[in-house]
Amino acid sequence: MKVNNAELIISAVGPEQYPEAGLPEIAFAGRSNVGKSSFINTIIERKNLAYTSQQPGKTRTLNFFAINDVCHFVDIPGYGYAKVSKKERAAWGRMIEEYLQTRSQLKGVVLLIDVRHEPSEQDLMMYDWLKYYEIPVILVLTKMDKVRKTKRHAHIKQVLNAIDPEPEDGHVPFSAETGEGKDEAWRAIRELGRF
Ligand code: GDP
Repeated sequence: MKVNNAELIISAVGPEQYPEAGLPEIAFAGRSNVGKSSFINTIIERKNLAYTSQQPGKTRTLNFFAINDVCHFVDIPGYGYAKVSKKERAAWGRMIEEYLQTRSQLKGVVLLIDVRHEPSEQDLMMYDWLKYYEIPVILVLTKMDKVRKTKRHAHIKQVLNAIDPEPEDGHVPFSAETGEGKDEAWRAIRELGRF
């Protein structure tokens, strides 16, 4: 999809700040450093729109972007950053849970997993959590350019074996470096959001 217009509408911490418009919403989740900002920036063809406030140590917010005025992208702050305190982690959990539980226009979540590594406990928890709330998921396997061609299949399989996704949840091998998977990711996102 060609993105002519992409802008940050609001960085929210609670429902009273969520934007009102009933546009379909797709949210993006993954552990810190998985390549989430790079993924969002690549598919919307912007250099660093998805960047604000997501640095470790800064206020962790749900960032709502309007995309071509047809949908919202919601950037969920990354999990698994070691230096985050217990208290902050708990606040993160409450913020995300509140969003996932209550947001009726949420059509699905893109869960990003680094294809080089075995998924973490938190990756598995996040997937199970999404399934508990019956939210459709697209798995995006990031940093494909970093695995050797001969090892691609084994790496993809390792991730899928660990997550064990429901048959209806698709997966897309992706690289922000080469652009691999960009069109496929868009197709999957549009299908999910029905726009
Ligand atoms: P975030 O914390 O999940 O938003 O991760 P970023 O998008 O900031 O990426 C974290 C680091 O991984 C940065 O140094 C990126 O340049 C790098 N990175 C992200 N995606 C890719 C990719 O597809 N290939 C390679 N080689 N590096 C990537």
